[in-house]
Amino acid sequence: MKDYSDKSILAVMAHPDDETFAIGGTLAHYTSHGAVVNLICTTHGESGDVNPEYLENYSSIAELREAELKCAAQTLGIRQVIFLNYRDSGMPDTPSNQHPDALMNAPLEQVAEQIGVYIRQLRPNIIITHDPVGNYFHPDHIATHRATEKAFHLAADPSISLDGGLPACQPDGLYFYTMARKRMKWLLWLMPLLGMDPRKTGRNKDIDMERILNTEFPIHVEINFKPEDPIREEASRCHASQGGGHRTMSFYGRLRRRLAACTDAYMQAYPQPQNGRVRRDFFEKE
Ligand SMILES: [Zn+2]
Repeated sequence: MKDYSDKSILAVMAHPDDETFAIGGTLAHYTSHGAVVNLICTTHGESGDVNPEYLENYSSIAELREAELKCAAQTLGIRQVIFLNYRDSGMPDTPSNQHPDALMNAPLEQVAEQIGVYIRQLRPNIIITHDPVGNYFHPDHIATHRATEKAFHLAADPSISLDGGLPACQPDGLYFYTMARKRMKWLLWLMPLLGMDPRKTGRNKDIDMERILNTEFPIHVEINFKPEDPIREEASRCHASQGGGHRTMSFYGRLRRRLAACTDAYMQAYPQPQNGRVRRDFFEKE
């Protein structure tokens, strides 16, 4: 069995639930093999509607979602969860975009410096974040992607002094979580046959699969997390207010899971990829 006990990963994601629904399988895979995983969550995920029954014991949506994230993090074996305390910007063209505390309105430099300080403190081997289109054009995912990419370079530059006077840190790799387009193409073909609109998918019908498929990123690493899928499933139950834990048993739901095949795909942003070979492990040599 692989032993990653000398490795650490820092994941930088936008909302409570991205650590589970997006990369939960990957995180569970590495913590199960001994790696230290820390998480920066840039917002509290307070936009959108929540069924009032979930709010009974909480004073706000932000508090509920923070509690859900802590539950999921414990399940996934994440050591530390750090909140940057920006406000969820909501999907494009929603009123949440206008809020002065929304992440999308924060200066990129400021967010990058905050993340850069944590990179220097935690000194991870690798960093994971959203892809350049924020996986599905969510403004917070895009802002988190940009800030993390900038932070990666700030943290590594010894000429830049970040808060705390910590020495520079050059992690071994920077990876962007992305959706494997070849699998999505099957869904795009199938959805109209099932009476579904590919331009309005997801829980809030705000994910446009056609638009996503007009973009594409190379895949350099694919992580298979089949043995850890039950852990990811358990973590998803922590996010009950976001529909977690309800496996849809419809034909579409089952097909989507089968196509996903317990695999997370990543683009390698650093170092420059040497060849087109897809690796099965971040720590496998190119
Ligand atoms: Zn998100």
